[in-house]
Amino acid sequence: MELPPSITCILPAYNEAENLQEMIPLLCEYLPRLSGRFEVLVVDDGSRDATSAVAIQLAEQYPVSLIRLSRNFGKEAAMSAGLDHADSDLVILMDSDMQHPVDVLEIFYQHWLEGYDMIYGIRADRSDEHPIKRRMTGFFYHMLSQSADVEIQADAGDFRMMDAKVVRALRALPERKRMMKGLFAWVGFRSIGVPFQVAPRFSGQTSFGIRRLSSLALTGITAFSSTPLRIWMFIGAGISCLAIAYAVIVVLRTMIWGVDVPGWPTLVAGIGFLGGVQLLSVGVLGEYVARIFSEVKARPVYLISDYHPASARKKTEHK
Ligand code: UDP
Ligand code: MG
Repeated sequence: MELPPSITCILPAYNEAENLQEMIPLLCEYLPRLSGRFEVLVVDDGSRDATSAVAIQLAEQYPVSLIRLSRNFGKEAAMSAGLDHADSDLVILMDSDMQHPVDVLEIFYQHWLEGYDMIYGIRADRSDEHPIKRRMTGFFYHMLSQSADVEIQADAGDFRMMDAKVVRALRALPERKRMMKGLFAWVGFRSIGVPFQVAPRFSGQTSFGIRRLSSLALTGITAFSSTPLRIWMFIGAGISCLAIAYAVIVVLRTMIWGVDVPGWPTLVAGIGFLGGVQLLSVGVLGEYVARIFSEVKARPVYLISDYHPASARKKTEHK
């Protein structure tokens, strides 16, 4: 008889003690519908609350593994840590705040059985978000889709189910600054989106404020497109042409009418404008250089302080 596929469900968790208390039992009741061989892998991303303690306590009752990172590395790093330690046939990525509904997993699973390698959730609507955030997200995805080398699905999130071969491909990617959504798109494979309704957070509040989101957006754009570098080449070329044309006009005018003193405003405006353009383009360059710097340093994406695999815990209990 063929064994059912093994499943690892990765839960990145940053200060989610209360949510995990709900989320893990819910998942462990639900996952047997897909396969009896499952494991929940909690990645504690440097939480300051009892997240790890809750996971360890629930591990006595449920098949829960825990990876504890040495500090808060961010969700992208926490997901990478989970993916590096998931050796199952199927890997699920979910938020631990109950915003991703477990019922959708059955649909994901059906698609996997049909032969899809990556199944991702698409936010059916964003009406729960602040209109300004919605606008900015829309703008970001527009920019990205215009410039990126791969097509990054708008509204697709980190709620995903993937085959082991996708996980292997993701692990092989060496970059440090990781925007997982972009990497998911980059690796390709047979993928399909499934719309789902985002639930409100069960407890606590989001850790993705405007600063984190814009930094993620910048990583997304610089990691997946070199258009910002090229734009300045074209703008620079355009301005140079204008400047040459203007110089020709000035020379001709001087030859025909002689020298006249006025011209200060144009001069100052020209210098100011060019100064601004140069600073801006240096800034764009700097952004890419900073990315290169952080890649060259080649520091690990995350550091693990403790690892409690589910099976080992079970074994010690039986001794
Ligand atoms: N998260 C994490 N590290 C962080 C921030 C968030 O592992 O530094 C986890 C968090 O515990 C949750 C998921 O990432 O499981 C999504 O975070 P959040 O709910 O704050 O973001 P939102 O749902 O608003 O996008
Ligand atoms: Mg959330």
